[in-house]
Amino acid sequence: MNILNDVLNDLIKEIINRHETEKIITLVRYYRNNIFSYERKIKKDSKKIKELEKRMYKTCNHNWEKDWDDPYSRYKVCSKCKLANMHYVYN
Ligand SMILES: [Zn+2]
Repeated sequence: MNILNDVLNDLIKEIINRHETEKIITLVRYYRNNIFSYERKIKKDSKKIKELEKRMYKTCNHNWEKDWDDPYSRYKVCSKCKLANMHYVYN
């Protein structure tokens, strides 16, 4: 009786552990998928920002000024659109 009890207890523990592990695996998968989806979104939005900056570089009537946030920079920054005077980046 005692042996049967031990065997049953072990079996129940094993089943509970397996269930717990499967729940955790599902959660880890869920969060990994979220991260993949955020990374895709970040890439997509970064690309969009680059395209918009290119357009803005062409449309803004720039007012180039020394960049006080980066006083050693050899590039000036537009006081209106905040882009740097780096035409090769935006063309
Ligand atoms: Zn500008």
